[in-house]
Amino acid sequence: MPEKVIIIGSGPAGWTAAIYAARANLQPLVFAGRPKQTPSIILPGGQLMLTTEVENFPGFPEGISGPKMMSYFERQAVRFGTRIVTDEGLNPDVSNPDDGHSYKYQDCKSVDLSQRPFKVVGEDGKVFETHSLIVATGATANWLGLPNEMRLAQTGGGVSACAVCDGALPIFRNKELAVVGGGDSAVEEATYLTKFASKVYMIHRRDQLRASRIMQQRALSNPKIEMVWNSVVVDVLGDERISGLRLKDTVTGEERDLPVSGLFLAIGHTPATSFLKGQLELDEKGYVKLRDPGRSFTSVEGVFAAGDCADTIYRQAITAAGMGCRAAIDCERWLADQGIH
Ligand code: NAP
Repeated sequence: MPEKVIIIGSGPAGWTAAIYAARANLQPLVFAGRPKQTPSIILPGGQLMLTTEVENFPGFPEGISGPKMMSYFERQAVRFGTRIVTDEGLNPDVSNPDDGHSYKYQDCKSVDLSQRPFKVVGEDGKVFETHSLIVATGATANWLGLPNEMRLAQTGGGVSACAVCDGALPIFRNKELAVVGGGDSAVEEATYLTKFASKVYMIHRRDQLRASRIMQQRALSNPKIEMVWNSVVVDVLGDERISGLRLKDTVTGEERDLPVSGLFLAIGHTPATSFLKGQLELDEKGYVKLRDPGRSFTSVEGVFAAGDCADTIYRQAITAAGMGCRAAIDCERWLADQGIH
C-alpha cells in the first residue's frame, strides 16, 4: 500500500507539516536526514540545530535553545502518529533528545516523480511508494569551511550564519563584530547588528559590493560599519569564544589579525534540493519553484514544498513552520480530491 504522504526534511517546516498531516490522520512518514558534515554541518532538525538561543519564536518568552525546540517539534509530530525512517525501522523512541537516536535517521537518496504513486528511495535502497510528497529539505547557510569556524558555531562561541537569529544575544552587545560577504544579506545583517554592536566590520573579498545600490548606500553611509575590502578570513581565533579573525589581503597576500567578538557569515545559502533535479522545477539557484506564491503547490501535482528550500526571502523558523502548515493542509485537501483520506 502506498503511503498517503511522505515528508522529506525535519526542520520547522517538515515537523510542522508532519504534525498537521498526522492530526489529519495521514500517518506521515518522515525522512529526517542523517547528521553529516560536508563543509557545512547538516543535522536532522535543520539550521536551528546550530542556533544556541532562539528568542524570536513566539511562545518562548525566555527563549529556547534551537536543538531543544526541534526535539519538541519532533516529539509533537511523533505523538500524533508520525513515523520516521531509521536504520532500525519506522518508530524510533524520541523521548530522549540526547540519546543519539537521530544518528539512525536516513536520508532520502532519490525520488521518482514521473509516475504515480511516486517512489521515494531511502539511503539503504528501500523504496517507498507514496500518493503525495512534501519537500521541506531546507537550505544550508554557506560557511567558509574553516575548522575553528565550525567548532565555534557548534558550541555557541560567537560564530553564526544568521544575525537575525543570534545578533541580539548578550554576548554581542556593545562589542566589535564582523560580517563576511558583500551581497544584500551581508548588508542587511551588518545593518541589523549595528543596533547592538559598537562597530561592525564588513569583510569582503573584492573591492566592490555585490549588493543592490540602495543596500550598498545603506552600508557605506552607516557610521558603525567599516568596510574591510579585498580580504578573506583564513582563520577564526579563540578557544571557547571567538577573539578575532586572521585576514588575508587578496591583493598583497599579507595577513593580519582583527580582534572581534562575533563573526556572522552572509555568503549565501544552498537549498538542499540537488536530489530533485530533473524531477521538479527548481530556479537557477536550486530553490523549489512554487506554482503560486503563498501556496505550496509545485510543478508536479501532488508534490508540495515548504520552508527554506522554497523561500529565498524570509528564511525564519516561524515562516518555515507556517509554510509547513500550509503544505500539509494543501496536501490533505489534494488527497481528499483524489479520494484518499
Ligand atoms: P549573494 O548575493 O549570492 O552574495 C553572497 C556574497 O558572499 C557575495 O558578495 C560573494 O562574494 C560572497 N561570497 C560567496 N562565497 C564566499 C566565500 N567563500 N568567501 C567569501 N565571500 C564569499 O547572497 P545573499 O546576499 O545571501 O543574497 C541572496 C539573494 O537574496 C540575492 O538575490 C539578494 O539580492 C537577495 N536578498 C535581498 C535582500 C533585500 O533586498 N533586502 C536581502 C537579502 C537577500 P562576491 O561578490 O565576490 O561573489
